[in-house]
Amino acid sequence: MITAVGTAGPEWGSEAHIARVRALDAATGRHETTMANVMRDYFRAQRHAVLARVNGTAKRYAVKADDPVPEPFSRAEWNRRLARTATPVLAGTFRDGGALALDELGLQVTFDVQSPEAEQWLATKVQTFARQINDATWEELRASLRDGLAAGDGVPALMDRVRTIFTSYETYRTEAIARTEVIGASNAGQLIAAQQTNEVESKTWLAALDSRTRLDHRNAHGQTVLLDELFTLVDAAGNKYTGPAPHQFSSAKEVVNCRCTMTFNLKSSGTQPPEPRRRPRR
Ligand SMILES: [Zn+2]
Repeated sequence: MITAVGTAGPEWGSEAHIARVRALDAATGRHETTMANVMRDYFRAQRHAVLARVNGTAKRYAVKADDPVPEPFSRAEWNRRLARTATPVLAGTFRDGGALALDELGLQVTFDVQSPEAEQWLATKVQTFARQINDATWEELRASLRDGLAAGDGVPALMDRVRTIFTSYETYRTEAIARTEVIGASNAGQLIAAQQTNEVESKTWLAALDSRTRLDHRNAHGQTVLLDELFTLVDAAGNKYTGPAPHQFSSAKEVVNCRCTMTFNLKSSGTQPPEPRRRPRR
């Protein structure tokens, strides 16, 4: 059940809103750069491995188009490799996110990153992160190689297909992953840190302040729910999505490239119930 508390937090575009967005940028910028470097290096290494495999298994690729296409890479091996290199960035971002939330609440407590909830989040995140990225890569490569075989491509043309795919990975996809995952890890740290305090009553959606912010996220700005309850997003088609924090929605459509975050309201801060305040509609 969803119990909306009301609206709270800084008004859209106000100085307080800008300040909160800047604080998040300051806490995440360095991690975003690191994550982009990790992903670019990873995709580059993976591209070399896939090219070697396509090159080395040329004869198997020359079979009929409806035959099974050989695996572009070993998913188990590349999942392990990605989990290993991405864990320090995700953990660091998560930790800094928790510290940011506690700092803004003015609470003299430390974020316990070894709590069961914190450890559980990181372990699950790392696994799903690696699996989802490699599953998508694997499917795209296989589909392209299958098309190539159907079109009678030889090995050089198949290799060109692989290169084209990885060129976009090493640019656009790297950027999207860094942006999405770093803000997501920060928000997760913020939420778990707020839960650890036992002093937070509610949380307020704070939409990113840029032109790319989704309309439903922009509309969610100020939405305030009890700490352990769910935010609701309603897209243009009227579909509803619920999740405990920005980025924690099951639909990728509501997550990829999102830069939204949250603020937290202390039990004693008098935001329960909040003053009804009209949000500007645009
Ligand atoms: Zn958003």
